[in-house]
Amino acid sequence: MLFQFDLSTPSEGLVDITREVKEAISESGVTEGICVIYCPHTTSAITINENADPDVKTDFLYGMDKIFPDMSAFRHCEGNSDAHLKSSAVGVSETVIVSKGRPLLGTWQGIYFCEFDGPRSRKFYVKVMRG
Ligand code: ZN
Repeated sequence: MLFQFDLSTPSEGLVDITREVKEAISESGVTEGICVIYCPHTTSAITINENADPDVKTDFLYGMDKIFPDMSAFRHCEGNSDAHLKSSAVGVSETVIVSKGRPLLGTWQGIYFCEFDGPRSRKFYVKVMRG
């Protein structure tokens, strides 16, 4: 089953979408299988990372800015090449094992929508497959 979610993002940040993914799995009725979380955008991404200390999100964004700074040599007319680089580096999807009707996440793992060029109206998809 395929589920679509809409969200409004901040200028830059990690939005916790673990609850939405759990809802999709629950609604699908799949107890054992695979779940793909995908965003159809070129300046955002999907990642799994720590959900306990909020400073991890802050440090993640700080580190991404250090690795992919906005550079005057960029030619892209939209002026957001750093966000395109971050999107490709992090990736636009994650795959999670579904076990006992839940995403098989570690104790400290959460699923995040990463916004690198907001604020925008975004969407992401959750595909749940039995198997
Ligand atoms: Zn662009």
